[in-house]
Amino acid sequence: MSKVKFFSGEQIPLEMHKVRIVQKLELPSVEKRLEYMQEAGNNTFLLRNKNVFMDMLTDSGVNAMSDRQQSAMLVADDSYAGSETFYRLEDKIREIFGTRFFLPTHQGRAAENVVARAFVRPNTIIPMNYHFTTTKAHICLNEGLIEEIIIDEGIKVTSNHPFKGNMDIDKLKDIIKKHGKEKVAFVRMEVGANLVGGQPFSLENLRDVRKVCDDNDLLLILDASLLSDNLYFIKEREEQCKSMSIREITRAIADLCHVIYFSARKLGFARGGGICTDNKDLYMKMRDYITLYEGFLTYGGMSVREMEALTVGLEETMDESIISQGPQFIAFMVEELIKKGVPVVTPPGGLGCHVDAMQFLDHVPQSEYPAGALAAALYIASGVRGMERGTMSEQRNPDGTEPLANMELLRLAMPRRVFTLSQVKYAIDRLAWLYENRRLVGGLKFVEEPETLRFFFGRLEATSDWQEKLAKKFREDFPDSL
Ligand SMILES: *Cc1c(COP(=O)(O)O)cnc(C)c1O
Repeated sequence: MSKVKFFSGEQIPLEMHKVRIVQKLELPSVEKRLEYMQEAGNNTFLLRNKNVFMDMLTDSGVNAMSDRQQSAMLVADDSYAGSETFYRLEDKIREIFGTRFFLPTHQGRAAENVVARAFVRPNTIIPMNYHFTTTKAHICLNEGLIEEIIIDEGIKVTSNHPFKGNMDIDKLKDIIKKHGKEKVAFVRMEVGANLVGGQPFSLENLRDVRKVCDDNDLLLILDASLLSDNLYFIKEREEQCKSMSIREITRAIADLCHVIYFSARKLGFARGGGICTDNKDLYMKMRDYITLYEGFLTYGGMSVREMEALTVGLEETMDESIISQGPQFIAFMVEELIKKGVPVVTPPGGLGCHVDAMQFLDHVPQSEYPAGALAAALYIASGVRGMERGTMSEQRNPDGTEPLANMELLRLAMPRRVFTLSQVKYAIDRLAWLYENRRLVGGLKFVEEPETLRFFFGRLEATSDWQEKLAKKFREDFPDSL
């Protein structure tokens, strides 16, 4: 919770920054929103940003930069090879993670490409707490097999488990025993498990995972994209870590992992990505892929300006009053929605507020993509753009059948330092209205379905005229409101 207590007793997060550059927003009328959503094939990825009021699609590459980041960008050292900017970034990573070797990539999935090519062989197994869309795509492309062994609590929508992103250690041991350690390519842990609602793992759990890896000579690879929220949650929720600094927790995590990769579109309020390791052999296994797919070793597809911003952003990630902002705003949104009866993932995680579409739209069958339908409905009702994280985000099986996701979530990401509390309140208000009118919302069906990562470009249409009815009801309830 916020360190500032209000005289009124209200529990609200307080922005610990001031806004000095602004971007004007437009809020189209509900009639226009209906039109834009249908033009976008009911896929929020295909909306034009100029028609979006609050962009809660993702926190990827849209976090606000600080004055210090902006000014660092001006002193970036432009060169193909040997840029001072690279060495500043490498030094910062060495200081924070204690890893000697750093390979820059243009974003997180590019790091995943390199890691998968270097370590995944056909039919090897990669146990992980939970998959992420691009991770899975790269592992599958290299014919590896994913085993998701998040604790059972992890995929329960409502819970009070503080670390729903933990790995089930017994399941990990069982997998290794069943297939033999030779069949396991590496063990992957994801901080702030994205697809289950940005849920953290504990330092203790990571220690236990590492112990099993050591007992079986296995590599432990960390996806650190959502590190900053997880750091905060460890400090807040893990008894043994309360007296540790954010820096100490970061180092404790890093010391347990053989390889760390991340998307700097999330970590470090910047853009780009990278892979860190303290092991020369592992570094050499990956290095050539950087020059092949990304760029020379001192930029890896990032611009030097992005690299300077990242160096400062990583430093800012070590500041508790900066990284607490995201989780506090998310917790506020989650708690207000609970008060209004809207079903959400609990406890509040990182990344954003996750609405449980399976329960919100319990009359829409999973084969009609309730989370996708809810994302479309919310845009029509508010101009707020969220993202479907459910069955649409899954890939079809090789035989063409469709796996149903464990959860149907509408994710409302909270880009860092971007929205004010009144904007967050607006989103809560419109969700509450939509919940009152949920029976008006129907399902969706694909009219164009790409084979890989279909949720990015797929186009869908409503299974009935429910969207027109929803817009009409909005107009009746708000005769003269945008
Ligand atoms: C976003 C993300 C990625 C991919 O990063 P991009 O920069 O978007 O390519 C990988 N893993 C996790 C956990 C992520 O959240």
